[in-house]
Amino acid sequence: MTMRYVSTRSATAMGSFTDILLEGLAQDGGLAVPQAIPIWSPEAISSLSGLAYPQLAARVVHAFADDLSLEILEVLASKAYTVEKFRHPSIAPLTVLQEAPHSRLAVLELSNGPTMAFKDMAMQMLGQLFEYQLKQKGQTLNILGATSGDTGSSAEYAMRDKQGISVFMLSPEGRMSQFQKAQMYSLQEPHIHNLTVTGSFDDCQDMVKAVSADLAFKSSMRIGTVNSINWARITAQVVYYFAGYFQAVSAFGLRFGELVDFCVPSGNFGNVLSGHVAKSMGLPVGQLVVATNENNVLDEFFRTGCYRPRKSAETYVTSSPSMDISKASNFERYVYDLVGRDPQRLAGLWRELAERGEFNLAGDPAWHAVERTGLVSGASHHAARLETIRKVYDRFKRRVDPHTADGLFVAQQFLRPPIPMVCLETALPVKFEETMLEALNEPVPKSPELQAMEKMQQRTLSIGQDVEGLKDFIRQHALVAT
Ligand SMILES: *Cc1c(COP(=O)(O)O)cnc(C)c1O
Repeated sequence: MTMRYVSTRSATAMGSFTDILLEGLAQDGGLAVPQAIPIWSPEAISSLSGLAYPQLAARVVHAFADDLSLEILEVLASKAYTVEKFRHPSIAPLTVLQEAPHSRLAVLELSNGPTMAFKDMAMQMLGQLFEYQLKQKGQTLNILGATSGDTGSSAEYAMRDKQGISVFMLSPEGRMSQFQKAQMYSLQEPHIHNLTVTGSFDDCQDMVKAVSADLAFKSSMRIGTVNSINWARITAQVVYYFAGYFQAVSAFGLRFGELVDFCVPSGNFGNVLSGHVAKSMGLPVGQLVVATNENNVLDEFFRTGCYRPRKSAETYVTSSPSMDISKASNFERYVYDLVGRDPQRLAGLWRELAERGEFNLAGDPAWHAVERTGLVSGASHHAARLETIRKVYDRFKRRVDPHTADGLFVAQQFLRPPIPMVCLETALPVKFEETMLEALNEPVPKSPELQAMEKMQQRTLSIGQDVEGLKDFIRQHALVAT
């Protein structure tokens, strides 16, 4: 039986996995979710524990994408997750932080991919899925997006060698780190377009929205997105919770079925939502710790039951910038589960959000469901971030990036030995040199390849804030199948 997808805000059918592959958003404003989460028996799950990462990925993704064959998914996953791209045979290796002999703390490395951030884990698979699907249909795709750093870069590195796909990525002029600029802007592929906007990330996003609002233009130019609400990205991220669990069982000498806790540096709630999906499928996950930075929208919800997205002006620029969000795009999918997957109820809450700017679940039966899901939260801040980077370096001789440090800081408040805590590493420190220098008083060592990358010619086009200019540029450069 093929898995069907529905909108969170109505029972409207959205088709199968390949139907929603290019668009996670429903016409009614809701998000695509599977009609039911597949549940696996403990035996079925433990039988996967010996698989290599690409084979594991094919099995897990197939549970949500059963309109593609397992064989095809294995081919695509084997191309997405190579040792060459991820620089490690396990793709997502687990490292125990050895202190005392009884350490129960580990880091799951998700940032060894081409752009050194965890977004590669999903984006590399997405690139393969897109290319395969477009070839099947004889179509092309022009990806239009806005980035403040990690997403755009990860998307470009995943799509740079894909046939029939071009990327138009808007970034805020002068607001990205030297390293981020070098990584993105040094790409020379003719179908990768880095367009800089005079303004903030929000201005970039407004321009994307303005172009996408022109539906005729959007469809004739074959424009699509790869933003964080893309369901295929969520699915691909479920895989490393399984990989992390299996590695923790062996590293900590657990019996299969014993719980493992995870801590997740969070922004748009995509990463931790994937953990929630893994747990819902039957993976023995205990707590899922949501770690936020100063932009604590999510922490506020888990402490008080009140969800109150911030205005742009209330969103802080922090030293863990990839978690600087005003609202958590994927949160709607989690709340959908909390309200018993009732689309009327969910739509009601989001109407309230539109009208009053917030909703509060405290005292509601849905609030008790939070406990069952195992999600708890905490917030970090600049001083705690630096302190954690220093402490981890002193104790374990390991440099962790500012986002991972937020996770490790918050995780401390939820340790419950002997249950292991696995902290997800979401980026490598070399991406955030200024903060690392501030914390450790010494520069992060840089490989000759990265030094060379920073000296490469950069290729961008400044488009100011001109929406019509952007459309003209797309008209001239879009790949449209004839
Ligand atoms: C995107 C990102 C996050 C936040 O992940 P979400 O899925 O948006 O919650 C955290 N850390 C880094 C380094 C990121 O790039």
